[in-house]
Amino acid sequence: MNYIDEYRNPAIAQALLTRIRHRAKDLKREITLMEVCGSHTTAIGRFGIRKLLPDSIRLVSGPGCPVCVTSIGDVDRVLFLAIQTGVIFTTFGDMLRVPGTEGKNLQTLRASGADVRILSSATEALDIAKENTQRRIIFMGIGFETTAPTIALVLQIWKKQRIDNLSLYSVHKIIPPAMKILISDRSLNIDGFLCPGHVSTVIGAEAYRFIADAGRAAVITGFEPIDILEGILMILEQLAGGSPDVEIQYSRGMHKGGNSRALDAMETVFATGPALWRGLGEIPESGLFLKDSYRIFDALNHFEIPFLNTEEPKGCRCGDILRGLTAPDQCPLFSRLCNPAHPIGPCMVSSEGTCAAYYKYRDGR
Ligand code: SF4
Repeated sequence: MNYIDEYRNPAIAQALLTRIRHRAKDLKREITLMEVCGSHTTAIGRFGIRKLLPDSIRLVSGPGCPVCVTSIGDVDRVLFLAIQTGVIFTTFGDMLRVPGTEGKNLQTLRASGADVRILSSATEALDIAKENTQRRIIFMGIGFETTAPTIALVLQIWKKQRIDNLSLYSVHKIIPPAMKILISDRSLNIDGFLCPGHVSTVIGAEAYRFIADAGRAAVITGFEPIDILEGILMILEQLAGGSPDVEIQYSRGMHKGGNSRALDAMETVFATGPALWRGLGEIPESGLFLKDSYRIFDALNHFEIPFLNTEEPKGCRCGDILRGLTAPDQCPLFSRLCNPAHPIGPCMVSSEGTCAAYYKYRDGR
C-alpha cells in the first residue's frame, strides 16, 4: 500500500476484522492486549477500533504518553524552576496545563508573570539564549526515544557553541524498562503488546526481545486503522501458534535494527538511571540523565530545589490508567468534573493522554 486512504480502506478493515474474530474464537479465552503508545490510544479511539473487536479481546492502554508519566514530583520541581528570578522557562506545549500538587500549572504561572515560553523545537531555546544573555534559559526535555535523540543533537550544538546560559531539566524516559514492569505485573496478565511504531524506528525490534522471552507476543505497529487491526491479528496468530515473537507490522516506517545515528546521539549525551514514573513508581535504568561531559547544562547546577511535599490530584486515577488497570470512564471524575477544559490529571491534559482520547472519541470507543 502506498497511500493513506489504503490504510483506512473499509473493505480491508472488514476482512481483517473477520480474521480477528475467527482467531479470537479459536483461542477460546479472554485475551488482554496493551497498546503502549499514546498515538495508538488516540487512533484506536478515533477510528472506534475497541468497539469493533470481539468481546473476548480486551484492549488496554499503557504508559505511552510522556507528559502523563512525568511524576508529580517532577511537575512540582518544574513549577519551582519556572518562577525563579531571571529564568526563561521553555518546553513543549503539552506540559503547559499539567497540574502540580497545588493545582497550579505553567499556564497559571505565566499568567502571574513567569516567563514561560512554548517551543516547537529545542533549537528555538538556542535563539532565546543568544537574545537574552543575562538570563538563564531552562529547557524542559520531555519524551521517549522519539524525542530524546533530537534533544541530544541540540545539546551537542549547545556545547559546540559554548552557550552557557542554557540549561536542561530532563524528564526523558525510555520505554522498554516500563514494559518489563508491566509484564511482571500479575494483576495485568498481558498476552501481547502493540509496540510503538515511532519509538521502534529508533530502538529497533530486538529491543523488545524480552517480551517474547517472557512468553508474550509483540508486534511493532503503525498508526492507521489497517495497521492496528493487522497488528492485533498478528498478535493473535502468534498466540494461536504458541510461539511468541517480536514481529514488525510497521515495516514501511522502520528498519529492524533501528536508527544507529539516533541511538549514537542519545548515547553521547545521556546515561540511563532510575526514574520515577507516575503510576509505575521508580523504574531502574528508565530515565535519561546528562552524562558527566554534558552535566554543565544541568539546570540543577544553578538552583537548589527545596524538599517539596508532593501529592497526586485528589480522586485522579491516572496512575491506574497508565498501568492499564482501569479505563478512564471508570474514574468517577471522568467527564463530569474532569474534562479537557478543566483537566484534573495529566491523562486529560495531553493530546496523547488516555483520558483525553476517551473523552474526545467517547461515542465511538
Ligand atoms: Fe485523572 Fe481526570 Fe483521568 Fe480521572 S478522568 S483519571 S481525574 S485525568
